[in-house]
Amino acid sequence: MAQKYKGSHSGEDCCSFCGAKRSDVALMFQGTGGVNICNNCVERGYQMLVESELTGDGKKSKGDKFRMEELMKPAEIKAVLDEYVIGQEDAKRYMSVAVYNHYKRILSRQKNKNVDEVEIDKSNIVLVGATGTGKTLMARTIARVLNVPFTIVDATVLTEAGYVGEDVESILSRLLQVADYDVAAAERGIVFIDEIDKIARKGDNPSITRDVSGEGVQQALLKILEGTVVNVPPQGGRKHPDQKFIQVNTKDILFICGGAFDGIEKKIAQRLNTRAIGYGRQTGQQIDRKNLMKYIMPQDLKTFGLIPELVGRLPVLTYMQPLSKEALRSILTEPKNAIVKQYIQLFAMDDVALKIDDEVLDYVVSKADEYKLGARGLRSICEAIMIDAMYDVPSSGDKEFVVTLDYAKKKMEGANFSELKQVS
Ligand code: ADP
Repeated sequence: MAQKYKGSHSGEDCCSFCGAKRSDVALMFQGTGGVNICNNCVERGYQMLVESELTGDGKKSKGDKFRMEELMKPAEIKAVLDEYVIGQEDAKRYMSVAVYNHYKRILSRQKNKNVDEVEIDKSNIVLVGATGTGKTLMARTIARVLNVPFTIVDATVLTEAGYVGEDVESILSRLLQVADYDVAAAERGIVFIDEIDKIARKGDNPSITRDVSGEGVQQALLKILEGTVVNVPPQGGRKHPDQKFIQVNTKDILFICGGAFDGIEKKIAQRLNTRAIGYGRQTGQQIDRKNLMKYIMPQDLKTFGLIPELVGRLPVLTYMQPLSKEALRSILTEPKNAIVKQYIQLFAMDDVALKIDDEVLDYVVSKADEYKLGARGLRSICEAIMIDAMYDVPSSGDKEFVVTLDYAKKKMEGANFSELKQVS
């Protein structure tokens, strides 16, 4: 029989920490050597542990760092996006709000662990837009802003468990790797799933043959997107030689899915037309036929072949505009790490002042447009123009190098770029 706490009142057990009597608390835990601890002190101790940002193994975790006052407001998040991403105003606003709400949701649960509070839903995002419009750039920039682990996976390599290809769990292995196996940090990371449109159901009729890389993968993604505990193989995890699986809870991981959804405009147009007949569209409400993407609705994703459950788990839907020539021109010079700025820095490291004439930039844009390469083409075109200069100038002793239109044209002619014309 354990001894009574020295300060016990009239023989009754008391908490060795706060002195409360057993009859005054809900629970009293008895330790060896006659010490007791009441439920209030256990709770207080736990709270202090949480606040001290210690993980189970006693290490500080990056994953516990969120505080309301530290969270960037949507306008601040957008301001950083503006530094890196040209245009895409709507998408930036949607993303900023979705990300802000996501981290608020984590915070609200952290604070109100036992309280019957309104539970905020997860705000996974789907970004629809042609390739090279900046979907990946946007997701990458968001992760950089928040300083959370970030990984990109290609939905096309995923297959239903047990088939050749990667299981959906591999998504989390990668996130763990970039988080340096800090599970708590990974559990608040961001995953960008690219080419989500490529796992659309083929055709409207569910076929008898198994669709292991389409609907099967969509089904497998459901739980992960919603939030579940997954046994993740560390995959070559030398840091955990004897640990077979690491448990990762996905409820606070933000998933951003991107896809070109080629041909979805037709489905949007069909929907808009049917509605016009069915409900009698109000006259004066003009449809911008050149930019149908801005009318995109979740049901269009379903018509395209995403299963309704998956669409339901991607509540934030936004679109990326095709890039105009003006936007392409700005991409060359304006973003924080614009291509032109990068070349200038590379040359400056050899003490060479690089000047690129304005006509050259217009020429690069017109070539990217001509070859239908969009923003992705800008870099390869610039490389073709700059490669000889980058080879020769460092050993030439020159202090200045000017890229003129004539020079650029000559280099492009020699680069056999026309072969790229077919690429779209
Ligand atoms: P997506 O994921 O839509 O296919 P990316 O984000 O990979 O396109 O874009 C490819 C490259 O093009 C990026 O690395 C970036 O340099 C450039 N780019 C594309 N869109 C933009 C944009 N809106 N603003 C700035 N750069 C862009």
